Amino acid sequence: MPNNVTASIAFQTGMRHQLGMPCRDEHNELGMLAGGLTALVSSLSAPSPPTGWDLVARIVGGLVGGGFGSRLPDVFEPATSPHHRSTMHSAVVTTAISVGGVRRVIPAANAICERNATTDPGVNALQNFLAGMLVGTAAGYMSHTVADAFTPRGIPLLTRNF
Ligand SMILES: [Zn+2]
Repeated sequence: MPNNVTASIAFQTGMRHQLGMPCRDEHNELGMLAGGLTALVSSLSAPSPPTGWDLVARIVGGLVGGGFGSRLPDVFEPATSPHHRSTMHSAVVTTAISVGGVRRVIPAANAICERNATTDPGVNALQNFLAGMLVGTAAGYMSHTVADAFTPRGIPLLTRNF
C-alpha cells in the first residue's frame, strides 16, 4: 500500500481524536439523539400534539432526520483536515439554523400535520414522520457544529480563520 494511503487511513481513524475532531459515529449518534428529542419536545407545542403511533412516527422521523442532518456540515466541508471548518460549520450559520428552526421549521412541521390530518392513520403517521424529519434535520445539523465548537479547534465565527 502506498505511504500516502496508509497515512490517510491512519488519519481517518485514530488520529482524528488527537486532532480534536469528533468522528462520524459520534456525530451520528449525537445527531439522532438531538433529532429525536427535538421532534418529541417540539411536537408538544402543536395546538393538538400527536399521540400514539403519530407520536412514535414523529420521533422516528426525528431520529432519521437527526442522523441525516448531522452529516451535512461535513458533506459541505469534508473533514479532510482539522482546518476544514468554514462557513457551513460557523457560529453564524449555526445561530441562523437555530433561529430559523424555532421560528419557522417547528411551526411548519406542526402545521403540516394539523392542516392535513385525515381519517387514514397511515397517512397521518407518514405526515408525522416527515414533520419529524424536517425538525430532526435542523437539530442534527446543529448538534454537529455545536459538538465541533467544544473541540480544541472550535468553529469559526463566519468563515475559515475568522
Ligand atoms: Zn465537521
